[in-house]
Amino acid sequence: MADVIVIGAGPGGLSAAAALGSRGVSVLVVEKADEVGSAWRRHYERLHLHTVRWTSHLPGYRIPRSYGNWVARADVVRYLEEYTRHHRIEVRTGVRVDRLDRVGAEWILRSPQGDLKAKAVVVATGYNHTPEIPNWPGAEGFRGQLLHAADYRNPAPYSGKDVLVVGTGNTGAEIAVDLAEGGASRVRLAVRTAPTFVRRQVGPLPNSAVSIVLRRLPPRLVDYIIAASSRLSIPDLAPYGLPRPTPGVYTRLLNDGAVPIIDVGLVDALQAGHVTVVGAVTGFDGDKVLLAGGEAIAPDTVIAATGYKHGLEGLVGHLDVLDGRGRPTVRGGHTHPHAPALYFTGYTNPLSGMFRELKIDARRIARAIAASR
Ligand SMILES: Cc1cc2nc3c(=O)[nH]c(=O)nc-3n(C[C@H](O)[C@H](O)[C@H](O)COP(=O)(O)OP(=O)(O)OC[C@H]3O[C@@H](n4cnc5c(N)ncnc54)[C@H](O)[C@@H]3O)c2cc1C
Repeated sequence: MADVIVIGAGPGGLSAAAALGSRGVSVLVVEKADEVGSAWRRHYERLHLHTVRWTSHLPGYRIPRSYGNWVARADVVRYLEEYTRHHRIEVRTGVRVDRLDRVGAEWILRSPQGDLKAKAVVVATGYNHTPEIPNWPGAEGFRGQLLHAADYRNPAPYSGKDVLVVGTGNTGAEIAVDLAEGGASRVRLAVRTAPTFVRRQVGPLPNSAVSIVLRRLPPRLVDYIIAASSRLSIPDLAPYGLPRPTPGVYTRLLNDGAVPIIDVGLVDALQAGHVTVVGAVTGFDGDKVLLAGGEAIAPDTVIAATGYKHGLEGLVGHLDVLDGRGRPTVRGGHTHPHAPALYFTGYTNPLSGMFRELKIDARRIARAIAASR
């Protein structure tokens, strides 16, 4: 029986394993994919970390300076590979854990590849686990192509095509720019709620570094600071269909997980007319996409950048450790009274960036597990 099994070899699971290893705890990471960092291998190609390199490293091994301030997706993958080697983390790939059961003083990890046992388990299966497309009426009969943003890699397949991107999270915003720069004949962005835009860096200050300080302030003050900074650094986009939202972006992030958009080109693309804004999608009818306000358009392709589910119900739903939105009610070094020695990392969406949060939680988990031995 392993001392500790970590489920998931993404940044969260690898951080936890490294932090545990540094405290002399023997740990095995199990990963359903064939390699570490599988989410980052699949993300769209032009993606870079929005958080600056020096706030984004995981515990005990910095991201090489040569990767630049804004680390490219492929370099994130390289970093995760190097990180695994550096810390000599034992990763067993091709192992999917479907359910956890507490039997006596141990955890049984139910897996089609064979059950495993551990004294403690760290769940790090990812906030962005299962792509989610809304249940739009008529979608199954749509005669165009409908895909989730998780299946978008680069603009090449959409060259010369009329594409509608749905959703104005960071992913939707960046994919719209990628398509416009990559030869799509027309790019429209369906918007339900106008987002708040912020710059990745203002003057010498990276947004993610400033956010580390902002997080310590009262939410209403942070709302005010972000709104003021957005107003000063982002032009008025109302003429392009995106009026400034009412202040409250940080409160919304805390309540609903709605993040501000780190602009990496959408503002320019809107101003240049390369991307145009349309109403929210309400349904489909044959080759038409129906929009709020009654308009109907007929794009070749619809890319739903509509988010993910956390996908924890099958794994731990029966343990009564999830809240109404499917997120664990405990994190970091804390465990639920119903589920001793069961830890979670990576199920929050902080303003300051998830990589940094994963590092903090990894250390807390390692401290708690080491102290309990
Ligand atoms: C497009 C995008 C851009 C982002 N950019 C940034 C950024 O700039 N800065 C930042 O700080 N954060 C960023 N994030 C957020 C976050 O840092 C990443 O999502 C990060 O990959 C989260 O790490 P994780 O280990 O928690 O989850 P993941 O990277 O999703 O890893 C989870 C792992 O668990 C495995 N797994 C899942 N279920 C099972 C199972 N049942 N059994 C076995 N293995 C399983 C998966 O295969 C996967 O390898 C971004 C997220 C996205 C989606």
